[in-house]
Amino acid sequence: MTDAKAPIAQDFLTIPRKLDVGEKVNLVGLTRPALQEALVAAGTPEKQARMRTNQLWQWVYHWGVRDFALMTNLAKDYRAMLADKFEITLPEIVSRQVSQDGTRKYLVRIAGGHEVETVYIPEEGRGTLCISSQVGCTLTCSFCHTGTQKLVRNLTPSEIVGQIMLARDDLGEWPEQGAPKDETRLLSNIVLMGMGEPLYNFENVRDAMKIAMDGEGIALGRRRITLSTSGVVPEIARTADEIGCLLAVSFHATTDEVRDKLVPINKRWNIEALLDALREYPKATNSERITFEYVMLDGVNDSDDDARRLVKLLDGIPAKVNLIPFNEWPGAPYERSSNNRIRAFATILMQAGYASPIRTPRGEDIMAACGQLKSATERARKSRAQIAAEAGLDHS
Ligand code: SAH
Ligand code: SF4
Repeated sequence: MTDAKAPIAQDFLTIPRKLDVGEKVNLVGLTRPALQEALVAAGTPEKQARMRTNQLWQWVYHWGVRDFALMTNLAKDYRAMLADKFEITLPEIVSRQVSQDGTRKYLVRIAGGHEVETVYIPEEGRGTLCISSQVGCTLTCSFCHTGTQKLVRNLTPSEIVGQIMLARDDLGEWPEQGAPKDETRLLSNIVLMGMGEPLYNFENVRDAMKIAMDGEGIALGRRRITLSTSGVVPEIARTADEIGCLLAVSFHATTDEVRDKLVPINKRWNIEALLDALREYPKATNSERITFEYVMLDGVNDSDDDARRLVKLLDGIPAKVNLIPFNEWPGAPYERSSNNRIRAFATILMQAGYASPIRTPRGEDIMAACGQLKSATERARKSRAQIAAEAGLDHS
């Protein structure tokens, strides 16, 4: 086993791009230090840069303002300079579908004409936004629709944080000046469970989450953000150090033999290696339990023996298990376990002391449920050889 995959996967996707002459810098997605640097480069005196950064930050991320002319605590000529050199732009919503259960699925167009999906899930007293981190995915989990889509590229921090901002636009959730602070937020939680493997786009995801967590802007606390990974072991400790959000892991099997088939990254970092990395995570982040996601596939991973093995594997890890009834997609090679089977599996986990909620599929009628995301424009199915080469599996 080598750690070679992680850096390779990130490097080949990095698209260094110089701005063309006259092209404006998008402020959305710049971290505070990067924003400050950009303002200085645009001629802001060093002494003022920090204050200007704060002011702009609040306009963009707290008030949701997109027009420099409205930033009334900045001098007029400074606003003109900003409008000349910078822009505040979000990816474009191409379409919005609303499910019978209120789930909203946005098809979002990003630079280069690529598309990703973002899903808003309203719940009692809260609302969760499921955001994408890549166009497609390099990994090829056999039950996942996104896994059949060719990876096109990593999203930039701007495109990741932009998904949160455009959902707030659509929900009408930017605060109004002078209005009392509304504590019940429509968009109160984020899950990085859309398209892509967030830990193969680590820096961009980290920077976007830092922006989302910043108390003077979108201000979603780190415990309101859950990052889901298929098990990119070397990046787990870094996630604890540099992001500190909650962690979910796509576990899905209790033997290496089955996990190799369902979540092929297991061939690189197997169950034991993954559990070792996870054991450290709650301590390192002083956070709650890790969520173990477990998709229920009829006759594949759903037996009582699986449930008992899972209990053994979880020993010593503060964990809860999220059982996900398999969501079907055209051509999927699996079927959903029966409700009785799922309940029997859950009972074994609960008797062993693990909370094990069964995830209610949301937005199925608009193909917005877990694992159903895939953009219509990127339907090319990879060849097996390509999948193996990209995932580096031929060397493991
Ligand atoms: N790439 C990351 C995050 C996105 S997937 C990861 O794999 O963790 C979000 C969750 O949905 C994962 O647990 C994934 O395994 C699960 N999932 C994928 N396809 C699914 C399907 N068809 N039905 C149910 N869950 C699925
Ligand atoms: Fe990628 Fe996650 Fe789907 Fe696996 S489950 S193919 S890691 S998006």
